[in-house]
Amino acid sequence: MNKQLTIALTKGRILRETLPLLASAGIAPLEDVHSSRNLIFDTGHPGIRLLVIRGTDVPTYVRHGAADLGVVGKDILLEQGADGLYEPLDLGIARCRLMTAGPVGWQGSGARIRVATKFTNIARRHFARQGVHADVIKLYGAMELAPLMNLADLIVDIVDTGNTLRANGMEPIEEIAAISSRLVVNKAAMRSRHAPIMRVIDDLAAVLRGG
Ligand code: AMP
Repeated sequence: MNKQLTIALTKGRILRETLPLLASAGIAPLEDVHSSRNLIFDTGHPGIRLLVIRGTDVPTYVRHGAADLGVVGKDILLEQGADGLYEPLDLGIARCRLMTAGPVGWQGSGARIRVATKFTNIARRHFARQGVHADVIKLYGAMELAPLMNLADLIVDIVDTGNTLRANGMEPIEEIAAISSRLVVNKAAMRSRHAPIMRVIDDLAAVLRGG
């Protein structure tokens, strides 16, 4: 008998928007994912189980084949690279923008700038493309604190409404990428388990088309 397909989901905001899409595609967890402390969930679809993990870990699980498919933000794919992964569907959920931002009225000096972000690869690429010498400082959260405390001049962060920036005396400067969540697939699994994986992709695509 074929083993189950495993789909790795990103917990948090993306999960809340992913579950209704999966349910419409006939893939609904058997227990309440939000209140459970479990990390692995059987679904009403006998051939599919779900993992609920941090977004930064989703590409790792899928790349190594520990999960066959995954749902993850494009920001994480841009930051980590998408080696070993196909990205067949833009799920159109958890939309936001990856932006540079700085203190209101900030004027670049043209010399070196200090940039705080958790997206260090994206930030380095972005400023290198612009010919700006940026010292990139890795942070794990609360990026908007860095300019306030003079740790950095600018930040690279995810912006949705912009409320977090405004509350900290900052404003968006430049969009680096439009972000939404993507379905990713392990490349080897796409060959070895083609039919069941294509079924999931086609069913989700139909849900997205409203069909
Ligand atoms: P906002 O104040 O609406 O601009 O939201 C900004 C904060 O919410 C950011 O610092 C992000 O950490 C988080 N955020 C907003 N949208 C998303 C998203 N689609 N995925 C992950 N985090 C998000």
